[in-house]
Amino acid sequence: MLVLVINCGSSSAKYQLFDADRKVSLAKGVIERIGQYGSSCSDHHAAMKIIVDRLTDKKTGVISGAAEISGVGHRVVHGGEEFKESTLITKKVIASIEKYSALAPLHNPPSLSGIKACAAILKGVPQVAVFDTSFHQTMPEAAFLYGLPLEYYRKYALRKYGFHGTSHRFVAEEAARRLGKPKSQLKLITCHLGNGCSMTAVDGGRSVDTSMGFTPLEGLIMGTRSGDLDPAAVLILLEKEGSSTSAINDLLNKKSGLLGISGVSNDMRDIFKVAKGKGPKTRRCKLAIEMFVYRIKKYVGAYMAAMGGLDAVVFTAGISENNPWLVDRIKKDLAPCLPVGTKFIVVPTNEELLRARDTFNIIKRKRGR
Ligand code: ADP
Repeated sequence: MLVLVINCGSSSAKYQLFDADRKVSLAKGVIERIGQYGSSCSDHHAAMKIIVDRLTDKKTGVISGAAEISGVGHRVVHGGEEFKESTLITKKVIASIEKYSALAPLHNPPSLSGIKACAAILKGVPQVAVFDTSFHQTMPEAAFLYGLPLEYYRKYALRKYGFHGTSHRFVAEEAARRLGKPKSQLKLITCHLGNGCSMTAVDGGRSVDTSMGFTPLEGLIMGTRSGDLDPAAVLILLEKEGSSTSAINDLLNKKSGLLGISGVSNDMRDIFKVAKGKGPKTRRCKLAIEMFVYRIKKYVGAYMAAMGGLDAVVFTAGISENNPWLVDRIKKDLAPCLPVGTKFIVVPTNEELLRARDTFNIIKRKRGR
């Protein structure tokens, strides 16, 4: 069965075609600058057409016709509290994803455009939504509620949702396989350290707490996001800087984190380079690395306590997969205070493969009915 996996952003559409039976990727690519000035790709509908044309191109394509595609799996960032797992896309599901655009205004609308474009271009092909939030829907109330008056949870759905769920689920399953134990018997802490960074406590295969919150701003120090902060600091910034809420939103999401602390870059590679030298920004870069590491260690301690034990800390995404120094440093610092035998492992993430797998399983189930 051939499954096409799509990840639509506001101006890009990534795609990958899988032979889901053999679990191999046949083709992948990205369409960029969608809808931007001077681009030949005006919208997501045009982007989907280009993708299908590329895949079916007589000379360079990998399939002879769109009819060979049996299903499409879409990344959808926010599924609110409704979607606890991946789901077959129906009119009702589309209406719900539209509703949750209020919670993810930058992410859900482009996914919807991709879904609607696929429905028009690949008529009758079943589509599946794979949500970034659904893996974390197993968190207990005590973990996902904020210490605000409870009516705001009811009024505004204000709670911790968590993100990067597909990556945390994938690496937790892969780690269990490598450790040779069923996931139901493992207490894992998964660390997704890329441009965005988050950690999850995975107890018996279920997410019981995660560091990102109502939005992806909470938790770890990230490339350009501040992570955890006293909310009163935001109020002071609003007052003293005379800024608008959107300027503060920009400051917290785009100018903080590693970039704001180092004054150099949001990219760990650049920060390491400067930290190793003797320039004017060396101290700030060293501090950025220290703060990054410190917060990860703090979360490991917190999540071990939350789960009442720990079998392994699992690292994934760009920083973990390319920077052995950082993982070693965290391991060296933490090993003495963790249960004897706690493993530290690096597992490359593959969210697309998990989306393809979910799509394949859901379509197989549908056919079997
Ligand atoms: P995303 O979260 O966007 O998927 P990635 O998982 O690709 O991002 O991670 C990107 C980040 O990985 C970069 O910003 C960079 O900080 C980090 N990275 C990549 N290669 C290295 C490296 N060799 N050393 C340190 N960090 C690296």
